[in-house]
Amino acid sequence: MVRLIIEFILAVVLAVAITLAAVWGSEAKRQRKEISTYTTALKAAEEKIEALETQNEELQEKVKHAAHAAPHWGYAGEMNPAKWGEAFPTCGTGKAQAPLDIKGPFEKSDVTLKVDYKMGPLKVLNNGHTIQVNVDPGSKLIAGDKSYNLLQFHFHRPSEELIDGKPAAMVAHFVHKSDEGNLAVIGVLINEGKENALLKQIWKHAPTKEGPEVTVPDARIDPKSLMPLKMNFYSYEGSLTTPPCTEGVRFFILKTPATLTKEQVEQFPFKLNARPVQPQNGRKITEG
Ligand SMILES: [Zn+2]
Repeated sequence: MVRLIIEFILAVVLAVAITLAAVWGSEAKRQRKEISTYTTALKAAEEKIEALETQNEELQEKVKHAAHAAPHWGYAGEMNPAKWGEAFPTCGTGKAQAPLDIKGPFEKSDVTLKVDYKMGPLKVLNNGHTIQVNVDPGSKLIAGDKSYNLLQFHFHRPSEELIDGKPAAMVAHFVHKSDEGNLAVIGVLINEGKENALLKQIWKHAPTKEGPEVTVPDARIDPKSLMPLKMNFYSYEGSLTTPPCTEGVRFFILKTPATLTKEQVEQFPFKLNARPVQPQNGRKITEG
């Protein structure tokens, strides 16, 4: 009898043990499954974080780029000169904008122009709007009792300034800055005619596509070789003729033009890069 009871108890214990083992087994299986689900989710989350980090890096790169690049503008299309004011307010609301249609009557100017330009290396760039030649320090413009340093000169086709309503084939703008920060521009109108040696040299090295400044090895230029001997001029107070159209720029448009050949005009990589003439708004044009 005792043995029977013991056997019964053993059987019960065994049954309980088997049941418990089964329950624990399925619990462990359930937990393993859960862990595997979590692991998969964790992996997916990690991949997502990595993708977001890459996206963030790309965005930061874009922001950096946008901060450096000015808003896009041009001479045709969506951001043509009539629209510049939308992104650059002075271009639209300024009352002393350039260029002007130069016509009389003129007041006499008591200013005499003298340029003291130096030979220097040829540093040329295509900035997407024009061909520009950067000039090393040392070249000066003396206008009356004021002195300016030549920074660069660049070209427009056709000329931005009109003389009695008519443009020249091109114009060269020599941009100067005084030590006080005032800007003065000499405009040399260029008509079709004889070949110009300096332009030939510049055109040869001018990049046809937008890009950084190129220093041409062994090439030296004298910016004065584009200037006429006679420095008679028309003068007015204007602005930069490109955005942001900042005002306070003194213009001297020389009466004696330079020349270049028809082929040289056609070689210039911009077909049209001239801002239309602006309202005079009572500004005086002087001559000297
Ligand atoms: Zn210009």
